[in-house]
Amino acid sequence: NVDWQGKHVTVAGLGVSGIPAARVLHGLGAVVTVVNDGDDERSRAQAAELEAQGIAVRLGDGDTLPESTELIVTAPGWKPGKPLFAAAAEAGVPVWGDVELAWRLRGQDGREPAPWLAVTGTNGKTTTVRMLASILEAAGLRTAAVGNIGVSLLDAVLGEEAYDVLAVELSSYQLHWAPSLRAHSAAVLNLAPDHLDWHGSMEAYAADKGRIYEGNRIACVYNAADPATEDLVREADVEEGCRAIGFTLGTPGPSQLGVVDGILVDRAFVQNRQKQAQELAEVADVNPPAPHNIANALAAAALARAYGVAPAAVRDGLRNFRPDPHRIEHVADVAGVAYVDDSKATNTHAAEASLAAYDSIVWIAGGLAKGATFDELVTGCAKRLRGVVLMGADRALIREALARHAPEVPVVDLDRTDTGAMSEAVREAARLARPGDTVLMAPACASMDMFVNYNKRGEAFADAVRARAAESV
Ligand code: ADP
Repeated sequence: NVDWQGKHVTVAGLGVSGIPAARVLHGLGAVVTVVNDGDDERSRAQAAELEAQGIAVRLGDGDTLPESTELIVTAPGWKPGKPLFAAAAEAGVPVWGDVELAWRLRGQDGREPAPWLAVTGTNGKTTTVRMLASILEAAGLRTAAVGNIGVSLLDAVLGEEAYDVLAVELSSYQLHWAPSLRAHSAAVLNLAPDHLDWHGSMEAYAADKGRIYEGNRIACVYNAADPATEDLVREADVEEGCRAIGFTLGTPGPSQLGVVDGILVDRAFVQNRQKQAQELAEVADVNPPAPHNIANALAAAALARAYGVAPAAVRDGLRNFRPDPHRIEHVADVAGVAYVDDSKATNTHAAEASLAAYDSIVWIAGGLAKGATFDELVTGCAKRLRGVVLMGADRALIREALARHAPEVPVVDLDRTDTGAMSEAVREAARLARPGDTVLMAPACASMDMFVNYNKRGEAFADAVRARAAESV
């Protein structure tokens, strides 16, 4: 345990992780200085509040290392290449992220710390962590979904509420800054290029994700369909006896969970030696039962089983689970056409998953591409496309990929980037759709060219669909 009394800690970044970190460290007796790049109205107001509590704040200068700094606690989004960190390295000052801080503060108050079941991956983290928490709850355990969702990590570790075990979502940024994290068990769901501008390269991104396996005690859960995740397990330094456990949508091997005849089965944690496999749940228990989501359910089940949860609790937890909004959310059926909101598909890997889940699709796409290319995505779904409606700043990239790989698919290019475009998109999609089709809004792009965030984009879609439904009765 660290002796915080009088320790000079620099918190990098005012924000959702920085402000609570500064308060907690100040409360523990540390001498805290917050440094922040921005110096706008909002940060001034936040700074004033912290200063009133005795915490120093330097606005507009996030790169000068305060003189007596002994430790930096950084917001996870700060890039490793920032001059502040070069200065820290030079001065031999360690850098922790918000996760490292929470990890180090576990048990600070004398309570036995709850073990962490940790989840990362390019897509599916939030869903999997929520499924996991639902399963743990069904098993009667005191738990919470924490990380970027629900309860904050610091609250989970230091708050009044006592937990038996935590379901923790971790981003690649957070893992980068969490050198001493040691999970009970952890899963990497998948690895596709994302955030490469931050990490510098795919290798660096994968290495940061792989950190989640370091020091695991019971299980490292990997995706059998994504060999890069298994490679990370192989490279990790784990506790003796820790096992590599795979999940697959096919028939599972001896140390895997998988699917046999519509049943989720576990061959990795079988107690009764007479039995080859333990049945956990039916595919229909997974909500929605789309392939990528069954994979999420298997990953959650693997972590729960590693923790010793019984099969019936896996089934009950999956049945109780309701997906968060804007993640392949069924909005309404209008004139025999299903309307599905997957606004959270902000990259091509995510959109690929929802496009694989339906047979005949009118696809609404476009937005900010963040440097992505669309050839692979379009090639993979071309056969299932009834038509496409495009909008947003980078729609031409998708239009060109469609022209190359799916020239016969009708495309309506709205040539709009205003929020009002969404209701026109829904109208055009309805015109293209036939009964039995799915209109799928899975933009494969970020939303900020047209909307404040993906939530607003999803709401605009749902509003437009409901307006149509009201007209059609
Ligand atoms: P994250 O927390 O990693 O962003 P979410 O659970 O919020 O992931 O899901 C984000 C989007 O990614 C969903 O809308 C869905 O389209 C897609 N998705 C979810 N799970 C997977 C998966 N296992 N593989 C690929 N895409 C997925």
